[in-house]
Amino acid sequence: MKREAGKFARIVIPTPLKEPLIYKVPDPLWEQIGAGMRVLVPLGKRKVTGVVLELLRETVVPGTRSILAPLDERPILDTALLQLSQWVAPYYLTTLGVVFGTILPPSLRSETQRTIALKPGMFSVCDALEKRILDRLRQSKGKLTVKKLTREMYGGDLHGAIERLESIGAVEIRERLPGHRTRIEQTFLKAGSAASLEAQPRFILNSEQEQAFLKIEDRLKEGGFETFLLHGVTGSGKTEVYLRAMEQARRAGRGSLILIPEISLTPQLIDRVNARFPGRVGILHSALSAAERWTQWWHIVRGNVDVVVGARSAVFAPLTNLGLIIVDEEHDPSYKQEEGLRYNGRDVAVMRGKLSACPVILGSATPAIESYQNALDGRYRLLEMTQRVQRRPLPFIETVDLRSKFNRSQQPNGGRVPLQTDSPQVQQSGEHRLISDRLSVFLRKNYHASRQSLIFLNRRGFSNFLQCVLCGHVLRCSYCSVTLTLHRRQKNVCCHHCNFRRAATALCPECGNLTLSGVGVGTEQIEEALHRLVPAARIARMDRDTTSKRGAHEELIRSWEKGEIDILVGTQMITKGHDVTGVTLVGALLADLSLNLPDFRSGERTFQLLSQVAGRSGRGDEPGTVIIQTYAPDHYAIQHLIHHDYKGFFAAEIEFRRALNYPPFSRLVCLRLESPKFEEVEKKARMLGATLHDKTIHNARLREKIEILGPAPAPIEKLRNRYRWQLLLKGKQSSSLLDLAKQACEALPRSRSVRLHIDVDPYNML
Ligand code: ADP
Ligand code: ZN
Repeated sequence: MKREAGKFARIVIPTPLKEPLIYKVPDPLWEQIGAGMRVLVPLGKRKVTGVVLELLRETVVPGTRSILAPLDERPILDTALLQLSQWVAPYYLTTLGVVFGTILPPSLRSETQRTIALKPGMFSVCDALEKRILDRLRQSKGKLTVKKLTREMYGGDLHGAIERLESIGAVEIRERLPGHRTRIEQTFLKAGSAASLEAQPRFILNSEQEQAFLKIEDRLKEGGFETFLLHGVTGSGKTEVYLRAMEQARRAGRGSLILIPEISLTPQLIDRVNARFPGRVGILHSALSAAERWTQWWHIVRGNVDVVVGARSAVFAPLTNLGLIIVDEEHDPSYKQEEGLRYNGRDVAVMRGKLSACPVILGSATPAIESYQNALDGRYRLLEMTQRVQRRPLPFIETVDLRSKFNRSQQPNGGRVPLQTDSPQVQQSGEHRLISDRLSVFLRKNYHASRQSLIFLNRRGFSNFLQCVLCGHVLRCSYCSVTLTLHRRQKNVCCHHCNFRRAATALCPECGNLTLSGVGVGTEQIEEALHRLVPAARIARMDRDTTSKRGAHEELIRSWEKGEIDILVGTQMITKGHDVTGVTLVGALLADLSLNLPDFRSGERTFQLLSQVAGRSGRGDEPGTVIIQTYAPDHYAIQHLIHHDYKGFFAAEIEFRRALNYPPFSRLVCLRLESPKFEEVEKKARMLGATLHDKTIHNARLREKIEILGPAPAPIEKLRNRYRWQLLLKGKQSSSLLDLAKQACEALPRSRSVRLHIDVDPYNML
């Protein structure tokens, strides 16, 4: 290949293009651009935004086109973040274009406009460039775009000069988002609400907190990468340890990043961070509007914040002096992105810490099995907090056995109700079993003692599905192979996967009678049952149906905190991180719902969910009680839960994983084929299976190392009108696994109708 010497740059365009492209760098731009800056480049007939990955002095690519203009004066992504993206892309078998599409907020993928404006007053400057800038501004009514200035004055440190002028108050830099008329004010970073700033105590660390903090502090002072697994029971005061570590990072002049599962569910944590770092907190999450996200991003790039709080995607926040990364509730499934770039925010956080040479704290009361094994293997350093703060006891947990032979007094009270109306009837029969006598007694007692109760059921809606009492027909989604859930208040039936919905009627589409009847319960029905049980109580429900409006989550949680709600019923949303001292009773209904999922993590997931929800109880002066209603009281997940015994659970779970060679003893890659055509997806999946089997048979190295499971239809075989088949690759080494997965991409001929999705370290395999 012919090498051409010159000035070139490798540029990523944040769209799913295959590889970064090489562009020529015009001489005058060579000094101005650098890795991590955005540039305008031609692509076909369009002009698009790209990010410079590196500058090159030669290329073998013939006929490169030229960069049109720089879009930044300094990098918006630092070296560690660029390196991180170059680790993420091959690890998750995707392109850099896809990764950059995830890292950059949409608005940053196009050009933003930055203007400099003179401020009133006279300023004398000595630096020639600064003087030229001021003169030039005066000539143009005190305002100019940075772009124009750059074009007129290249050479010299233009950006540095502008910054110095800004720091002495001579000019103001304004950023404008294209398509938005109003300027986004710098005052966006409110210093937290007044309420959140007052009365945020600064505790004296107890000895376990102190021990944990000292080890982290040592690492922060010494510098360098290390991952800590902070295993602290619910209410052990992990947040306080995080805050101290963040303060230590700031003392060293470095920023911290704290990831939390769902930002709107934990306003308390944001309050605490705001109180410690008033006006210096950036927030990133998917519910921000484009303009808000853009503003937050620029504040972070400019170093206006000491701390960034965010959900999963904030792992890519553009902090340039990162000194600490924290992943709170590191076991939470929401760290796994299930579409587009299918990454795990926790794992990426650890890699980012490594590349940024800074410590990472993974915190949880119920660490992921993989994480705990990493700690036992010495890859992570284990820090333990076994006691709640102020020696508060962990709640007392008991089970109620739902199996009727143990529970005769709670037999259903009769069969289905005769039908007269045209709306679906609901079996009244199950109600006594929904809320056991034992739980009912506790609920009433707790209410009369003016304390708060939490009722957890991991299923929303009113009835799980509708079935015809005459012909047995079950109402299903037209687009997915799942049943439709009855939402009685909204008077519709709805698919929880694709959101297809239609009016609820009793008319059976199969036999034509008005005989549809609801089976199974969801949170909506529990809410009604609770009203009957404790009529005077203030009852609220929290699930995706009640909190779809922006800000609704937060409002609900705030009034729960203030004690304005006596009983809160909800899905897994209510299990996360709240610290409300009035809660002394937690009831978990149908606690084994998550045990019955066809997933090797179902035991782990159940243990985590129930431990988390139990952990909401007894966080104040009064001790807490937890009642777990279950069909499987003897299951090891439930047994260890009752005894607050994470280690016992881990010991049992790890044996199960070892026996079946599941993670952490192996790694998984899920290859999922999807097509609107049933025959085609099956044919292609079988073909792909045969090809991969072939490849492993003829390659001794792969044969020993990789197991191919399937192809088989996915547990949810049809989703959003697409049929789905999958193959699971299981192996010890990610390198050979990724190799084989890559070969799968190549083996599957490009086709319009069948798509292959690759999920590395999959979490959800339904
Ligand atoms: P976790 O995240 O481990 O479940 P939190 O961080 O929410 O626990 O702490 C539980 C409660 O204890 C919070 O209300 C917190 O303000 C309080 N707390 C934390 N540390 C201390 C301490 N050293 N002394 C007294 N109270 C504390
Ligand atoms: Zn559907």
